[in-house]
Amino acid sequence: MFPTVWAIPGNLHPDRAPALQSTYFDSKEKFMSPSALQPVPGRQTQEIVGHIAHGTATTRSELAKVLGLAPSTVSLRVAELTELGIIIEDGIGASRGGRKPRMLRLREDGGHIMTADLGGHHARIGRFSMTGTLLETQSLPLQIDKGPEPSLRIVADAMLAMAVTAGGGKADIKGVGLALPGPVDLATGDVELPSRMPDWPGFGVRAWLEREFDAVAVVDNDANLSALGEHLAHLGPEQHSITVKAGTAIGSGIIVRGELHRGATGAAGDVTHTRVAAAGDEPCSCGNTGCLETIASGAGLVRQLSRQGIAVASTADVLALVRKADPVATTMLRTAGTYLGEVLSSVVNFFNPDALYLTGGMAANELYIAAVRSRVYEGCHPLVTQKLRIEAASTGPDAGLHGAARLVLDRILAA
Ligand SMILES: [Zn+2]
Repeated sequence: MFPTVWAIPGNLHPDRAPALQSTYFDSKEKFMSPSALQPVPGRQTQEIVGHIAHGTATTRSELAKVLGLAPSTVSLRVAELTELGIIIEDGIGASRGGRKPRMLRLREDGGHIMTADLGGHHARIGRFSMTGTLLETQSLPLQIDKGPEPSLRIVADAMLAMAVTAGGGKADIKGVGLALPGPVDLATGDVELPSRMPDWPGFGVRAWLEREFDAVAVVDNDANLSALGEHLAHLGPEQHSITVKAGTAIGSGIIVRGELHRGATGAAGDVTHTRVAAAGDEPCSCGNTGCLETIASGAGLVRQLSRQGIAVASTADVLALVRKADPVATTMLRTAGTYLGEVLSSVVNFFNPDALYLTGGMAANELYIAAVRSRVYEGCHPLVTQKLRIEAASTGPDAGLHGAARLVLDRILAA
């Protein structure tokens, strides 16, 4: 996959757009290097949209010049993008000797991209413009363990209702993205090894969405999509980041040069089953013993507190105890952060990212983040931590929605 920049400004809260634009300009030289410019139509369309979005080239002749492409190629790509409803001609520019050029701009009303992030007990739905701007969100209850058909029906109906309320219909939904809480087989868009999702494997989730909406559909793991969404909100196409989701379970997504790194079998970023000495022989949900998950995840803390006779049933219960300054729960949360930091310091030393973002219920507590941060700084080489940012993810519950929208838009442009 090639790095792309065009979806960045649209994915941003307006307050953060200027900072991001400078990221784009900083990295422009590398991004536009001749070796990176391959005659790939999908890449060309992404670059054209990127330049129009950033205002760095807004006419066909400017695009041809900045991209080093033949005017006829640019005209062809512009025609495709116009037909897709992504860009429109808007006004006439100043003449530079010849005919006055037609100005191009992104079209915000060319249709909807709908995305959803499914958890165990709820779904979050987002509606995006065709330029990648998040326009509205909605959360609704959903029992993912009831199986794919009822869950997807709830999601699809909510997506359609949102599109209708926005003044459109099913035909205006140009693409659908779905984040699922488990490893996803990219070839089929299905969940693999579904500990909390019986009946989902082999269902054909992506095919179901494509049939339902007659549109492009993308299905991926929620940690991956959250990592992509968070990266797009802060960093550019030449940068690297890790986003760790620490809630009831722990998962992470890896972004290399602005793109998702999934690994050979899609399992990249699975830090939760790393063995840590402090976990001893504690049995883990994976069948192994001594995994990080058993002592650093919400589920691990629930188990440990229950053993001490403290009545907790969920990660939310544990966090509520910490907010009430319960000494046992507070110490446990800090220690859990230290263990996560221990595992992440190896990862950070090895991978040398620009940023490490933390999201999920556990990471909503500053104590947990502080513990991770101090352990990572302590355990890493100074060269690695020189510019490293370790922060709470700012896109919150919308991270996965943004990541999914970006992949859907990439697919539409590459098609
Ligand atoms: Zn495990």
